[in-house]
Amino acid sequence: MTIPPHIIEVAIPLHLDRTFHYLVPEMLLAQALPGRRALVPFGRRKLTGYILAIAADSQIEKLKEILGVLDDEPLWTGSEYAFFRWVASYYLNPIGEVLKTALPTGINVQTRKGDSGEESGLTGGRSVRREKFYLPGPSTETSRQPGAKALEILEVIRESGDISAAILRKRFGNCTPQLKRLCELGLIAAEEREIYRDPFKNHTVKRDEPRILHTHQKMALETISSSLDLNKFMPFLLYGVTGSGKTEIYLQAISHALDQGKSALVLVPEIALTPQLTGRFQARFGGGIAILHSGLSDGERYDEWRRIRRGLARIVIGARSAVFAPLENIGIIIVDEEHEASFKQSDGLRYNARDLALVRGRMERAAVVLGSATPLVTSIHSAGEGRLTLLELPERVEQRPMPSVDLIPMKGNKETISTPLGVLLTQTFESGQQAIVFLNRRGFATFLVCGDCGKPLTCPNCSVTLTYHRQRGQSICHYCDYSVPAPCICPTCGATELKELGAGTEKLEQNLKLLLPQARVLRMDSDTTSGRGSHERLLSRMSDGTADILVGTQMIAKGHDFPGVTLVGVINAEASLGIPDFRAAERTFQLLSQVIGRAGRGEKPGRVVVQAYDTENYAIRSAAGHDAAGFYRQELEFRREAGYPPFTFLAALSISGISEQSVSEQAGQTAKLLVRIKQEIKVRVELLGPAPSPIYRLRGRFRRQILLKAAARADLHRLILSWRQRSRTISTVRVTVDIDPLDLM
Ligand code: ADP
Ligand code: ZN
Repeated sequence: MTIPPHIIEVAIPLHLDRTFHYLVPEMLLAQALPGRRALVPFGRRKLTGYILAIAADSQIEKLKEILGVLDDEPLWTGSEYAFFRWVASYYLNPIGEVLKTALPTGINVQTRKGDSGEESGLTGGRSVRREKFYLPGPSTETSRQPGAKALEILEVIRESGDISAAILRKRFGNCTPQLKRLCELGLIAAEEREIYRDPFKNHTVKRDEPRILHTHQKMALETISSSLDLNKFMPFLLYGVTGSGKTEIYLQAISHALDQGKSALVLVPEIALTPQLTGRFQARFGGGIAILHSGLSDGERYDEWRRIRRGLARIVIGARSAVFAPLENIGIIIVDEEHEASFKQSDGLRYNARDLALVRGRMERAAVVLGSATPLVTSIHSAGEGRLTLLELPERVEQRPMPSVDLIPMKGNKETISTPLGVLLTQTFESGQQAIVFLNRRGFATFLVCGDCGKPLTCPNCSVTLTYHRQRGQSICHYCDYSVPAPCICPTCGATELKELGAGTEKLEQNLKLLLPQARVLRMDSDTTSGRGSHERLLSRMSDGTADILVGTQMIAKGHDFPGVTLVGVINAEASLGIPDFRAAERTFQLLSQVIGRAGRGEKPGRVVVQAYDTENYAIRSAAGHDAAGFYRQELEFRREAGYPPFTFLAALSISGISEQSVSEQAGQTAKLLVRIKQEIKVRVELLGPAPSPIYRLRGRFRRQILLKAAARADLHRLILSWRQRSRTISTVRVTVDIDPLDLM
């Protein structure tokens, strides 16, 4: 009898728009199932592919055989697969790349192992950690005496039922000979078990009880809970001012979902994944929580992934990639700080986790809660149109007032810290309270300018100026890390006199120390938080009161709850307004409102000083005046007039390469082809460019951009798809497609 040949469809994690078919040798028939990875010959290489399906009819001739199967359990479920397919088609990425992004990197360590034929799969490989456990053995009596220490150990093992080797060693020191002897006598048995590294291991947390909700919180929670009871997709915008108790609603809504036997997915910006936030979840729910963020090692991440896959964690908290978490039976998805740009991945698969949360929620029939004190302009618009259900928390908890804000005009004023801010800082420090001073520029001076020829010091690889870092004694490019010793001579004219222009956080820190020599000043920016755990150490010094003033970039604006902070100072409020991006006003408004919101979250009311050159700008005025409604009205009007989201959909094509001429040629050809196809297939898409990107040179590559705008998403997709089928790129030039781009720099 001949067995019918078994053919599978395999996706390869490369940028290829198609999948491939392979034959399965008879001995692998039982293992080569969809959802697992296979080792396949590909050209002259061996690659890891993802088995998507069993193919029914295909040309058998010329098909190659797979070399092995790498997993003994499926890595994704049917509904996850449907989600991955959606992602692939929406972002116009091959399914193999989506699977590679969705699965933890730790899994691939085994792929290399798989090559050599060693054990692999969910339970195998180098990233899985195992430990020895001991339990009572088959015999209870023995004629031979194992010795006094061994008897003591035996008693402990019998009492505990089972105990890990690590714990025994902690108690008895080296006890390998005794354990060996006990095993030989059959009094105990040893067992290898897979263990999971614990991301919480260094934290002890007090148990915490649900708060009694205030009226607005109660209304919001009831609406979310009743949608959970209905078991259908419901998207919400939880719009609550800073300190209004949004997190408390997340906690109680999740608790409702757990009571129904469902699970919960919580997405937060990377920077917010501090012990402060995860601790609140742990204090409320105890165990069963998995954490996914970039601070974990590949092995730790993979451990968390396996705990989720096996249903051992019912709450998953993570940064953007957690939207792909292998969580089943999802009842609720929360996206905290939904306005954050960090939900968008900026390379490879350019997905936006905030948007995908809504897609996954729809597929899982879950409630999706987008929470923010400063929602996206597009979210406010969706809420107005009824596509998101608006839940508002217009007041802070316990009727704490919003901080009072003074807007200080700085035109003609050369000081970094204005007199009113200086006076308030002194008063705050003297009364034993804490302050935050915000400046969205790191380094000492923004750049150095030659006193003779007037040329600024620029990066040789990027079209940006270098930032002077005094402590490191270097001028550094914030994009490619190029650095030169500073002070140095002017590369243009050789003059030795370089002037420092524009203050950064390093200089601000120095100024504050001069103003208040006794104050304990901390600085938080990406220069001081590069070490593992350094971010948390700085934050904990604010919460335990061993610091008086925290200076920093946007990092200090995000979600932190420091009840002791009564004063916030903003230096140079318009720093983010000058960026050539239609979202500059929105981002400035959000950033300022968030920083202002750090003041007065405790019992004492807060005060804020905002220093600005352009005090008439609507983003700055609205943030200072707590007039969010006014800001959104004006911004939506501008977007409608200029034809930007939410009134249109965007896609960006970036063309980059080392040779400026090839890049320019390719950009021109690409635009021409797009115009031709647009006329042929009759789609309504507006083409802008090709134009040099605002940073026209980055890490040695020249960059051009074509922006596509359309009133209908489908038109954009059709145009790009047909273009992709027909386009030919010069081999030294890279063309990437970004759907719903956030970064137009
Ligand atoms: P948000 O997430 O909106 O900034 P939080 O949820 O962090 O606000 O709440 C701010 C503070 O108020 C937290 O310390 C929280 O424990 C507390 N809180 C929240 N809800 C209540 C409530 N109903 N009663 C008392 N305190 C509350
Ligand atoms: Zn550079």
